[in-house]
Amino acid sequence: MTCAFCDNASIYERKITENDLAWAVLGNMPITSGHTLVMPKRCVANIADMTADERTAIFDLAEREEEGG
Ligand SMILES: [Zn+2]
Repeated sequence: MTCAFCDNASIYERKITENDLAWAVLGNMPITSGHTLVMPKRCVANIADMTADERTAIFDLAEREEEGG
């Protein structure tokens, strides 16, 4: 599967943190300062396609970034 994220090489240059199953990047069109996208490393079509471990990994990163990285 390919998508707007996996096929965009510039997104990898904006990576700010990661864990085993997820990663976070600064948005290229931020609606607020520090607007961050958190997504699974594995390409999925929607949240229903993620495993429980991937969902946990995403929320772990989101909480880490909310607390200041
Ligand atoms: Zn993808």
